[in-house]
Amino acid sequence: MICFLLHLISYGQYDLVIKNGQVIDPESGLDGIRNLGIIDDTIAIITTSEITGDRSIDATALVVAPGFIDPHIHGVSVEAQRYQIRDGVTTALELESGIGFIKYWLESKAGKSLLNYGASAAHSGLRHASLRQNRQYIPETQAQLEKEGYSSKIINQMLIRMMRSRDVILSEDDISHLKTLIEDELKAGAIGIGVPVGYYPQASHYEIFKSYEMAAQYGTTIFSHVRDAHMAAIQEAIANATITGARLHIVHLNSMSLSKIKTGLALVEAAQRQGFPITTEVYPYTAASTSLESVLFDEGWQAKWGMDYQDLQWQATGERLTAETFKKYRSEGGIIIMHMMKPAWIEEALASPITMIGSDGMPYAPLAHPRTAGTYARILGRYVREEGVLNLPEAIRKMTIMPAQMLEAIAPAMKRKGRLQVGADADITIFDPATVIDKASFEKGLDYSEGIIHVIVNGRLTVHDSEIVDGVFNGEPVYGHLRSR
Ligand SMILES: [Zn+2]
Repeated sequence: MICFLLHLISYGQYDLVIKNGQVIDPESGLDGIRNLGIIDDTIAIITTSEITGDRSIDATALVVAPGFIDPHIHGVSVEAQRYQIRDGVTTALELESGIGFIKYWLESKAGKSLLNYGASAAHSGLRHASLRQNRQYIPETQAQLEKEGYSSKIINQMLIRMMRSRDVILSEDDISHLKTLIEDELKAGAIGIGVPVGYYPQASHYEIFKSYEMAAQYGTTIFSHVRDAHMAAIQEAIANATITGARLHIVHLNSMSLSKIKTGLALVEAAQRQGFPITTEVYPYTAASTSLESVLFDEGWQAKWGMDYQDLQWQATGERLTAETFKKYRSEGGIIIMHMMKPAWIEEALASPITMIGSDGMPYAPLAHPRTAGTYARILGRYVREEGVLNLPEAIRKMTIMPAQMLEAIAPAMKRKGRLQVGADADITIFDPATVIDKASFEKGLDYSEGIIHVIVNGRLTVHDSEIVDGVFNGEPVYGHLRSR
């Protein structure tokens, strides 16, 4: 506060001023033409009066919104972040799968991130590491990481060794060891526990129930890709959460519910009505994307997903598969795009007041699923402006305050994000509502969204006139509330 006052006295102005924009703050309901002044990394004033700054942006005819918060990304490299920030995202979190050895990963990102970053504890890897025969891998890998710094190569080697135990059932002793591993990750800054049990559906109901019990005990959240694309799987997750008292966020409800989206929404809505902290998200595309070698393509996949070979698109080349190429690529391993949803199901999910937006954006690849680059501009351009599936303030609410409020009890930094208010973090996205649109496509692959004009991360202009500013890495870590150092 002292710095704040001194600054005003000595200069009588702001570091950065955004003038004449349509300022939308979904928490307070503000929607009007305002000037906004930033000091350091904080919003210092929002006013109809004239203000001056060291630097000034004219936002006439543009919307000034809180920076978009993506609770579901997988691309964490700077290359992936370039597409995220050009899509208006200022905070991108890997909460579905989580990130192993989060301490080293967080250290590796310091000063090198375009946007705010964070991740959950990676239940999938930790449950393997908790098995008696695997327990030596964690200390071994940690020692190697201490020596060489965070390297995804080292992590992958460990995961590959452990994945051999994919089909195991954890014993009571393994489960109690798992608890200590998860606790370590939460204390190192993990935000909740990522439990993508859909990728290891053989895990016992008891083991998964115990993971919810742990989350309840630590006062944190389970982020779940549920066991199967089936209502019973959504019911399992909700039952575990309500019985144990854990918070629950169900990722990509659209690809878990498919044609039953109405029922999926009704289940989550009913739980919310009873007061349970259970939330969900959707991405605005009719295709999913994942690893072809995963259990999702075990025997019987066509009937389960309502797809056939030609509905599968191989990311590396963009080609559609046949029985022969399916076999070949599955044995090699790699990313697939699954065309399996109907536009009406997505519209139903987007129009619901209970869904927030999460991209499920993939690691960078030229032909990666377009959600990796275009999710937020697509909501604003296609679903707000062109199709009127939802209105602008509602869309902004789903991209900002909803994820912020979902996370603020378990990640305190989120209390200052998702809002345009005095004292809030200056994470701001300024876009042209008349032109904003996604450009990435299934045919041509990734491309930067259009109409996202300026993006500010912690007070620093990171996208200016639709270009990424060179050398600005102002993203800060978002830690879970149990971080002890
Ligand atoms: Zn998933």
